[in-house]
Amino acid sequence: MSARQQGGGGQAERAPGPTVDEARLWKAPDYRRILLKLSGEALMGESSFGLDTVTVERIAQEVKSVVGMGVQLCLVIGGGNIFRGVEGATKGLDRVTADYMGMLATVINALAVQGVLEAIGIHTRVLSAIPMASMCEPYIRRRAIRHMEKGRVVIFAAGTGSPYFTTDTAAALRAVEMDCDAMFKGTQVDGVYTDDPLKVPDAKRFDRLSYHDVLTKDLKVMDASAISLSRENHIPILVFSLQEPGAFAEVVAGRGTFTIITEEGQNDAGS
Ligand code: UDP
Repeated sequence: MSARQQGGGGQAERAPGPTVDEARLWKAPDYRRILLKLSGEALMGESSFGLDTVTVERIAQEVKSVVGMGVQLCLVIGGGNIFRGVEGATKGLDRVTADYMGMLATVINALAVQGVLEAIGIHTRVLSAIPMASMCEPYIRRRAIRHMEKGRVVIFAAGTGSPYFTTDTAAALRAVEMDCDAMFKGTQVDGVYTDDPLKVPDAKRFDRLSYHDVLTKDLKVMDASAISLSRENHIPILVFSLQEPGAFAEVVAGRGTFTIITEEGQNDAGS
């Protein structure tokens, strides 16, 4: 059940800060190019591991809607539904090996999403930070940009290609390299809350936050290096629910429910 359902269709109590109307005064730019970050878990559906095809197909339709708006789109997909380096390291694997396994997991997800997107008529390219010549293209910045200019959805695989990083950081890095107007993070709930709204029913949702708020209040949005990189390069982050059908296109159009993280965010978490 999404937080919106729990909280009553977007009626969840809000943290102090701008009113909904004030937040709506933020006008969605006419996005030229954006990046969507999905965690591997977003592809699991109700399962506890791996990929759920119905869920992947649903997400592909969300992507298709945004492509239909004429926005250039790239994706970074995590691998946590298959393997996470940190967890592998706790089970006796050395961390670097475990992280490479995690990066391979992101390639599996990228290929799955590519297959489903192509099946519904969306042209895609997978570009891997770790070259895998017989499966996908290597990551080359200019080539990635050219693909998007031609209307292809680019899926970045294998994170940054280096251990000790996450796909959140890879997403921020690629968003900067691709000169994206914004990074969208699709989650289980419709924004950033003071607490996990799936566990804490009176958690409050923020309409706006600053990068500083996210870092200093240790809000669980993206890891600190992803937030810092976005901050340094002025990439707004929009957090929205992937569970709400049509939500991605709505948020790209500046409507619907989401939390936007920029330099100027004003909500004071939980005070
Ligand atoms: N990973 C890595 N370097 C990167 C990106 C990912 O080593 O640049 C590894 C790391 O082990 C991580 C795993 O890939 O745990 C899966 O990525 P992540 O945990 O970010 O996936 P998500 O939580 O988004 O599903």
